This record gives sequence, C-alpha cells and structure tokens, in this order.
Amino acid sequence: TVLQSSRRVSSLRCAFSASFASSVKDVPMFINGEKRVSSTTKFHEVHDPSTGRLIARVPDCTQAEMTEAANAAQAAFHTWRRVPPSERARLILKYQAAIRDETENIAKIITEEQGKTLADARGDVFRGLEVVEHACSTPSLLMGETLGSIARDVDTYSFREPLGVVAGITPFNFPAMIALWMFPLAAACGNTFLLKPSERVPLTAVKLMEIWHACGAPAGVVNMIHGAHDAVNFICDSPHVQAISFVGGNTAGRHIYQRGTSNGKRVQSNMGAKNHCVIMPDVDYDSVAQTLVGAAFGAAGQRCMALSTAVFVGGVEREILPRVADIAATKKVGPGFAETSDLGPLISPQARKRVEGLIQSGVDEGATLLLDGRNPTVPAGYENGNWVGPTIFSNAKPHMKIYQEEIFGPVLVSLTAPNLDDAISIINRNKYGNGTAIFTRSGAAARKFTNEIGAGQVGINVPIPVPLPMFSFTGNRASIMGDLNFYGKSGVHFYTQLKTVTSAWREKDVISASTMVMPTY
Ligand code: NAD
Repeated sequence: TVLQSSRRVSSLRCAFSASFASSVKDVPMFINGEKRVSSTTKFHEVHDPSTGRLIARVPDCTQAEMTEAANAAQAAFHTWRRVPPSERARLILKYQAAIRDETENIAKIITEEQGKTLADARGDVFRGLEVVEHACSTPSLLMGETLGSIARDVDTYSFREPLGVVAGITPFNFPAMIALWMFPLAAACGNTFLLKPSERVPLTAVKLMEIWHACGAPAGVVNMIHGAHDAVNFICDSPHVQAISFVGGNTAGRHIYQRGTSNGKRVQSNMGAKNHCVIMPDVDYDSVAQTLVGAAFGAAGQRCMALSTAVFVGGVEREILPRVADIAATKKVGPGFAETSDLGPLISPQARKRVEGLIQSGVDEGATLLLDGRNPTVPAGYENGNWVGPTIFSNAKPHMKIYQEEIFGPVLVSLTAPNLDDAISIINRNKYGNGTAIFTRSGAAARKFTNEIGAGQVGINVPIPVPLPMFSFTGNRASIMGDLNFYGKSGVHFYTQLKTVTSAWREKDVISASTMVMPTY
C-alpha cells in the first residue's frame, strides 16, 4: 500500500504545474479558461490525512487574481447566456460522459487528499455524476408557463433566465459530489461560475476543472479561485456575484448567508447536522445492527448525513446495541487505498483532537462508553495519520456535549425513549434538522414519524435518505439557510429568475389581405 500510495503521488505531481521543481506542488487556479499558478506568498498546506505527508500548497489568491476571475465570469456571461439551452446541455452531456470515464482517477485523488476509502470515493464521484446527468435535462426545467387571452388580445407568459455570475463554496468531506451539485447545473441554466473549493481538498476540484475545460467549455464560464476567509468574503462582497451556493459548517454558513444577503445576493446555505434514527422494537435486530454500523461509521462519520444518533424505543437497545458493538469492533481503520480498510482517517490532527476531546467529555458527563475508538491499531507506516475508530456511547442524555454537538467523526451516540412520541419529541428538540430515519415494520409508526418529524430528509428503513437529483437535497432548522434547495427543480429555481411577459396584439391591427395601400401604423 505504501508503494501504491507513493506511485500515486508521482502521477499527481505530473498532473500539476510543471514549472515547480519542488516535490510539493502549488495548486493552480482557473481564470478565463487558463490554468495558472497564483502569485501570492500565502498558502495553506494540504496533507495526506493517513500519513500526515505534505502533498500540495493551496494559495490564498490575491485580491487582483480574484477580481480577474470575477471579471472573466462576468464577461463570459454576456455570450454564455445567449447560447441556446440545448447547446449548453450538450456540453453537460459531454461532461457527464467524461466524468464517468475518469471516475477512477478522480476517486484516487479524493482518497489521497481526503482520506476516505477508494470505494467510498467512487461513491462521492457517482453521487455528483448523478446531478450532472440530471443537469442535462435543464432545457425542459427552464420552461415557463403561458396563459393566453388573460384580457382581450392579451397573453402572458413566463420563462426562467440565468442570474449572471454565481459562486460556490464547498466543504472538505465530499470533494467531488458537492462541487458537482453546483457548477454544472448553474452553467446549464446559463450562468457563469466562480468556484472556491475547500482549501483542505483542492486537488479534486482541479481535476474536475481540467475535465470541464477538456470537454470544450468556453473560457470564463467556470473559474476557480482558492483561499479561505478572504476568498469567501471576496465572493460575498463582489458586485458581479449574484448568488452563492454554500455547503459546510454553521459558523461559515451563517456568516456567508448574512454577508451575502446583506449585499443583495441570493444565498443557499446547507450546514451542519445531527442525524437521528428511531429504532422501534419490531425490527430485525441483526439487519438493523449492520445498517447502523455502516451509516454511523462509514467515511469515518464525516458525512453530513451520517446517522450519528440512535434513539431506541421500548428497551430494544438491550438486543441491538451489543450487536452493533460486536460488528463495529471488527471494522478496520486504515489508509483509504488499502482494500482491507473500512474507515479512513479524519481530515486533520485538529479534527482528531476535537473528536477525542468530545469522546472524553461523554465519559466525564456519565455516558457509557461501549466501544472506545481512540488510538486504534493501524498498519505500519501510518502511525502519523489522524485515526479514530468506531466509538459507541449508550445512556447518553440530551444535555451532554456528545449529544448537543455535531461530532463529525465515527461516534454513535445512543439514547432511549419509552415510546415513539417521546422519540419524536427528542429529535424535534435538537437544533439540527438535516436527515432522519425510522426502522420499523409498522406502516402506522412510519407514517406518524414522517408527518411529525422536523427534518428535511426522512428515511423509512433507509439509513441515509439522500434524494436522487430529480428531487432536491432538503433540510430544516439549523441545517439550512435560504429557501431554495440544492439540485432538482429547486436547484434550477435557485440559479434562475422568472421573467414574465405580458403582450397585447390587437386583432383590429391585423393587416387585411385585401389591403392595397402601404400600412401606415
Ligand atoms: P467549513 O465550514 O469549515 O468549510 C466550508 C467552506 O467554508 C470552506 O470552503 C472554507 O474555506 C469556508 N470557511 C470555513 N470557515 C469559514 C469562516 N469562519 N468564514 C468564512 N468561510 C469559512 O466546513 P467543513 O469542515 O469543510 O465541512 C464539514 C461541515 O459541512 C459539517 O458541518 C457538515 O455537516 C457540513 N456539510 C453539510 C452538508 C449539507 O448538505 N447539509 C453537506 C456536506 C457537509
């Protein structure tokens, strides 16, 4: 695996700016179709989370470079908006085929910079690809409405127009999927785009940009800048940017929503989560235990839809939790490139420290630590990775820190409730409302849960109910700001505005075929 991984590094090195002789590459930006290296002197380091090895430096782009990128997007908008929707969709069709062909290469980059297992990285690409496929149907989704003869000789019709320059700010946990939620659909709708990927995983975005331009995308339609707070604030303040798509944590999400909207921009902000499931006593114990392990610990719990909190009803935890702990204890923590690994590392040493601190707080506050994933055994050569293994708490209480905070690590927190009403009430009192699930054989319980639960995405015997892109990724309460969701019809509505035309063509003005004189009106 070590050999495999170092081979991977050398091929990556070839992929980036040949002008750098050093072993660590500077991540390029894309401005007006050109792949360029920033002239900045400020950088963020990108480390392989399973070894700690430095693999790249991502620039804090200068104000001049970011302005150039926004200007390029603004200039490209004037021509791109006039390209017929079906022609724009043809580019997206080409892009989806290219992503499909390049899936393995993209997945390897994800595994190297983000750490998730290769199998999970392929899923990251595929879930993004599905949104690109859906963006190919944008011409139909852009269609408006018509009502003829709303008054004598008067018709009204509406259609959807692009907004202009749209920006996207992405998190570290799905380096391919979330960027692909954004720019293909925005561009298909006729907008131009400014992408700022997470400074922790910029290399996947570079690959997505390379493929985009190799498909023949016109210069300036999608541009990419890098950085952290300054780049985000540039986007929030740029007079060219009309709308911002954000996915990430609550601190950044609230800031971007407030600063962007106060500057008159449209903002959709998908944020943190604490996804609960309810387990009713009528379930099959073994299959629910298997499901919980995958949904809580997959991707080392670094998924906004990870099922991180289980509410067991009517004492069923006594049957299921020992099974969950037994299965979880068999899961192997290790580098994402190794086929034997079930969980990769956390993104950074800071994330590891934070998760370990939260685990300790659970112990200190009196929850029962059924399985402790701190300091797991990892293959030789990977001692410097950011490892935490599957961890399970029972007897957690709503006031505890492990319950209140989004842990974003492989930690399952379990609570109990005497009945479904109480379980629903626990979930509805939590500040987040991203996803939730119920496991039951009762249609009546599932129906009640669906109707009363305050979460945007509900699974019935489905642990991670992320909707396919003909629907939208929804969320409630502190998991979302803004009222138009990502992808699906709602995504098209976010990236467009309605224009409504009322026209009067008077019947009396129709030129008579028998007129012999020159019309004078
Ligand atoms: P993050 O908020 O740290 O970073 C996201 C982006 O915001 C990055 O591009 C970063 O540069 C920028 N940023 C970070 N802090 C900022 C600040 N204070 N001011 C301005 N910009 C800032 O998020 P992350 O750690 O990369 O991602 C994990 C979070 O994302 C989790 O909370 C997870 O639940 C959430 N997430 C949500 C969804 C969803 O659809 N609801 C999907 C994926 C991830």
